[in-house]
Amino acid sequence: MLEEILAGGAAALGISLPENAPRLYRAYYTALTEANRQFNLTAIEGEDQAARLHFLDSLAVLRWEKLAGKNVIDVGTGGGIPGLALKIAEPALQLTLLDATEKKTAFLASLSEKLGLPCVCLTGRAEELGHESAWRETYDIAVARAVAETRILAEICLPFVKVGGKLLALKSADTDGELKAAESTVKALGGVIAAIHDYTLPGTDIPRRIAVIEKTAPTLEKYPRRWAAIQKRPL
Ligand code: SAH
Repeated sequence: MLEEILAGGAAALGISLPENAPRLYRAYYTALTEANRQFNLTAIEGEDQAARLHFLDSLAVLRWEKLAGKNVIDVGTGGGIPGLALKIAEPALQLTLLDATEKKTAFLASLSEKLGLPCVCLTGRAEELGHESAWRETYDIAVARAVAETRILAEICLPFVKVGGKLLALKSADTDGELKAAESTVKALGGVIAAIHDYTLPGTDIPRRIAVIEKTAPTLEKYPRRWAAIQKRPL
């Protein structure tokens, strides 16, 4: 059952969950399943998988990063992973959920209200919103999972992050080459790959990784470029 898997997994990760977390994750799971019947929101097969592959995978961030009081943006959030799953565990974080697809952000806006977890839901392309002064270099932390390879991810996410803040990229563990290839890109964007945390997803043998990219200097105004350029010629 979802509740037991989450309790056991959180304990294995060394994370304590608020009292209302089991109820909120259950409601979140139900909402995801219902929405999936109407449009393809996220790949989930049953509550065990949702608990491990979505919720615990998100929660792992809290093993290394304290998010209470931080201003956090989830770039390419899809069904709210990892952002909304983190907000249930740490309601004191200020959350922005960004996705290019209106259907997804509309779902998240209504769900977050239903769960009593206020957040800002932004519809748009990260590489465009990252140029707007309302969002540029205003976040302590950017998080992202399954959006793009690290070079591309860094270009669309680092512009949102304040100097002194971080991008946390949730990755599979076989990304040594991808991260190595991103070192010069990250530097060009004002960042540095500061840490790589490897762990096994609790209750599975799936190796996972959180890459921590610290922002040490402002990102040049010319970044991010337009999507076609970012994809065709990653920095
Ligand atoms: N983070 C979620 C969803 C991953 S799917 C998860 O791990 O389950 C990738 C999502 O990123 C999609 O919802 C897609 O709409 C969004 N996306 C991809 N490129 C984007 C961009 N440049 N700007 C905004 N959203 C983007």
